Order: sequence, then structure tokens, then C-alpha cells
Amino acid sequence: MQISELGEFGLIDHLTKDIKPQNASTVLGVGDDCAVLSYPASQVLVTSDMLMEGIHFDLVYTPLKHLGYKAAMVNFSDIYAMNGHPRQLVVSIAVGRRFQVEHLEDIYAGLRLACERHGVDLVGGDTCSSMTGLALSLTCIGEAKAEDVVRRDGAKVNDLICVSGNLGAAYMGLQLMEREKRVFESKPNNAEAAQPDFSGHEYLIERLLKPEARKDIVERLAKAGIRPTAMMDVSDGLSSELLHLCKASGCGCRLYEERIPLDYQTALCAEEFNMNVTTCALNGGEDYELVFTVPLTDHDKVSAIEDVKVIGAITKPELGQLLITRDGQEFQLKAQGFKAF
Ligand code: ADP
Ligand code: MG
Repeated sequence: MQISELGEFGLIDHLTKDIKPQNASTVLGVGDDCAVLSYPASQVLVTSDMLMEGIHFDLVYTPLKHLGYKAAMVNFSDIYAMNGHPRQLVVSIAVGRRFQVEHLEDIYAGLRLACERHGVDLVGGDTCSSMTGLALSLTCIGEAKAEDVVRRDGAKVNDLICVSGNLGAAYMGLQLMEREKRVFESKPNNAEAAQPDFSGHEYLIERLLKPEARKDIVERLAKAGIRPTAMMDVSDGLSSELLHLCKASGCGCRLYEERIPLDYQTALCAEEFNMNVTTCALNGGEDYELVFTVPLTDHDKVSAIEDVKVIGAITKPELGQLLITRDGQEFQLKAQGFKAF
């Protein structure tokens, strides 16, 4: 169906008509000039992320439902990185002429699945047309009690550096997708080329296309009675995030290569691409894991948390930000980052 058949208002109504807010903090959702929120007892966390076609995603290998899901997850991840809980999402979308109503339905199916899983209300947005491809701008609102908010500037000397899950998988997923895209484009008339084979690499593709924001880690930390001294989510690569954390906290760090958590598929795939897997884990982006610091006295508690690993320690600033390799050499961490600017 053409978007023009529905018109702007008809389209918004079509996409949002059966959304029912679930959170007490959502007083009014989609439909008026503004959404109305109420947070009498919490601090309010606000984060925004913009996703541009051709810069942040490639529609050749990104299904629209996955794109919606990921766009939401990326925002939720920022709220969890403050040790908070996401509650509302505002979605602004600019669409080109080649888009039809069904395409937007797919994006919203992904957005809504993500919202459902994380208990978030989609409360508003804006819709307009674009001459340059698809653009999504999402704003997420979350909450945390004042004493629970964790910033990136609170790490102290001797704190342990911890990370959730494993790193580098989404980056290897991206390498696979880019390779298949090149194969596909070099054989436009070959039907077989349209059927890429990702067997043995499923986990990597999933990490790229369907990241999961780590709500579970925030919950486990609370249950264990641990309040991290500093926390960030890993969107641009561990190396770059740790440097940000150290800079904000005015400290150094020692990160141990042998402790960096890797999935087996990531290691195999890096080998296949002739890449150093540590480099992929340090500088590949879009893992959406949490990196955080805890006091040394929490060592036993944090070590007992499922899917969390201690990977290093915070040091005095004059010692620098170091990677300690498997053979004991020390290298200054570099922020190669991931996002193409
Ligand atoms: P305004 O003229 O005030 O910008 P709109 O017609 O753009 O109002 O929006 C009407 C209502 O629909 C508002 O509540 C707005 O938040 C919501 N809305 C608009 N676009 C979207 C969207 N893409 N997703 C969700 N809600 C939207
Ligand atoms: Mg508007």
C-alpha cells in the first residue's frame, strides 16, 4: 500500500492504534501534542540515537523488523548503562518514496517487540518524508532512584573492571554480511548468490542484527547488592569505552587480553578473515554489552554473577591505560572506535 493512500495522520494511526501504555509513569501516550509522563520519586534518564541509512545500516542485509528492534535496543542499552530502567520510547522517522506502508509495519513490528520485551511504552514520535533514504531518530526515557544512577566518572583506583557477555561477535557478523554483499553484487544474475550460507556463523549474524540490551545484568547486579562505581555500554568497542571511562574518572587501567570474553564462533571467524581476534574484540563495535567497575571488596560477589567476567583493574592515572597481552607485554589502549566519521 502506498503511504499516500493513508496520508500522514492515517499512517501514524495505522502504526500506533493498538499501542496501550503499560507503565504507571506514562500518563498519556500517542495522540495528543505531547506525551505526558510522571516520575514523582525517580530521576529521569533521557537518551537519543539516530540511525541513518548508508551510515549506520545497510538495507541490503538488514531486515526492517530487525532494524526497528535494534534501534530500540540501542536506546535501552544506554538506559541500562546508567543502571536505570527504560520506560518510554519516542520514535521519529523519515522515509523515502520507495517505502510503502508494509515496510513501516515491519519497522514497527520490531520496535514493538523490543518494547514489549523490555516493558517500554511507545509514546510518540514524528513522521516525515526524506529525499536521502531512511532515517530513524529514537529517544528513550528511563528512570532510576537517585542513589542507583551509575555514571562513567566514578571509577576508583583498585576497582575491578568487569564486562558482560562476550565481545567482537557483532563486528564479525558485519564482516560476514559485507563479504556476502560483495559476492552478491559481483554476480547479479546468479540466483545461487542470493542464498548466502551462514551456517556455523548464526550467532555472529544474530549479534549483528538482533542485539539484546542487558537488562538481565542490571537486575543481577541489583540482586547481588552491587552498585557499580562506573558503567558504560559497549557500542564503539571496549577499548574506546574504557578510555572514556578512565578519562571521565581520572584514572588508568590494566586490561588483560587473556580475560577478554570471546565466543568460539568469533574466534573461528576472525581466523577465517585473517584478523586478530583481540583487535576485533577491542575495536569492533555494536556489542551492546555492559562494562563496569566495582570495588575490590565485591570481587567474590561479582565473580559469582552469571555471564560477567573480571577483565582488569583500575589504576592511578599516571600508569596509563594499558592492555596486558598473553605474553605479558604492555600496550597503550587506542580508541580506534568503530563508527565511521
Ligand atoms: P504534531 O503536529 O504535533 O507534530 P503529529 O501529527 O506529528 O503531531 O503527531 C500526532 C501524534 O502522533 C503525536 O502524539 C505524536 O507523538 C504521534 N506520532 C507521530 N509520528 C509518530 C511515529 N512515527 N511513531 C509514533 N508516534 C508518532
Ligand atoms: Mg509531528
